[in-house]
Amino acid sequence: MALKINEDCINCAACVEDCPNQAISLGPVIYVIDPDKCTECVGYHDEPQCIPSCGVDAIIPDPDRRETHDELLAKKERIASGALTSSES
Ligand code: SF4
Repeated sequence: MALKINEDCINCAACVEDCPNQAISLGPVIYVIDPDKCTECVGYHDEPQCIPSCGVDAIIPDPDRRETHDELLAKKERIASGALTSSES
């Protein structure tokens, strides 16, 4: 599943550079993760890179975005190919 940043975020931006998919950006109030870009780092790393970079443990799994490993890998391939938004199937 994609990850999300909760209200504990202190806007330190420590996670931004660690994301291989450029999924993290500053939202209206706090930093946000684009669920269409987050692959839990599947395809790049064995573990999500942003979780340990967060000093206040504000990055958590998003239960509304449950995805299998294969689905996450397919998302990574779509992102890497530049076809992020052209197809969800
Ligand atoms: Fe980016 Fe990986 Fe964190 Fe998802 S888990 S937001 S892909 S660093």
